[in-house]
Amino acid sequence: MIQQFDTLFQMMQAFPDEQSAIDHFTAIRWKNGPFCPQCGSTKVYHFSDKRTHKCGDCRKRFSIKVGTIFEDSKIELRKWLLAIWLITSHKKGIASTQLAKDIGVTQKTAWFMTHRLRHAIATKSFNRPLSGEIESDETFIGGKEKNKHAWQRTGGKQGGSGKVAVLGMLERGGELRTEITPNLRAATVQDRIRDNVEPGSAIMTDEHGAFLGLQGDYNHHRVNHSAGEYVRHFCLHTNGIESVWALFKRQIVGTHHFLSPKHLSRYLGEMTWRFNLREMGEGSRVNALLAQTTGRLTYQDLIA
Ligand SMILES: [Zn+2]
Repeated sequence: MIQQFDTLFQMMQAFPDEQSAIDHFTAIRWKNGPFCPQCGSTKVYHFSDKRTHKCGDCRKRFSIKVGTIFEDSKIELRKWLLAIWLITSHKKGIASTQLAKDIGVTQKTAWFMTHRLRHAIATKSFNRPLSGEIESDETFIGGKEKNKHAWQRTGGKQGGSGKVAVLGMLERGGELRTEITPNLRAATVQDRIRDNVEPGSAIMTDEHGAFLGLQGDYNHHRVNHSAGEYVRHFCLHTNGIESVWALFKRQIVGTHHFLSPKHLSRYLGEMTWRFNLREMGEGSRVNALLAQTTGRLTYQDLIA
């Protein structure tokens, strides 16, 4: 039985001490039964300290944190739970400087914690193709012309130094997918769309040339911004995906102030994950993130 909670207060009541937090994480990680993180064996013995386990096959001892983003972390799980609450419930995310103050850790520790959480968020794999009505849009992040559409910018300056091209696909009433692309050439953009969107779906885009040629596989509509035809009829707009960019921009500018291009994909993943679970209760989002914490992220990996 997985503990549920709806408010931050309820969460702290549910986990009054470190053992209760460990028990909660154990229940989520082993929801299908115990397994060894080293060899995968399901023959697992439990020590009476309720924290140490031993594999009956490879004979190694381990804690429930081994093989997850919590491995090697000296931060107690209750502080991690607080961090997870903050990062999953705040629409714009949380700055590591704020997290450091809120839970009482150094700024460096908080920075590493938020990156480990973004790492967990990014491990979600997509397999189902998007279908139905899809809004797709491109934007640039970074540089002076950050967050502008290609069509808003002057020719020749696109994708200049420090700018990162981002492509988004929003399934109306469904899932958002965002990714960094090496460029906004037609071949690149359409490759990504064909990888993610079921053929025959309706796709709404702006007039960027990168989308030209989708008509063969999709019901492609281009929204003509320059002529003022922002919305020609109810379904012909890209307002949904554009508000996603606006949200992401507020997250970067309002919360993080500065964003290195190196880490952009993780922030993008964090925003996308939160957007996709926006209908979910805040406590359920905490448990959802706890359920995908498999996979270590070492400090060396992060700064590499
Ligand atoms: Zn083992």
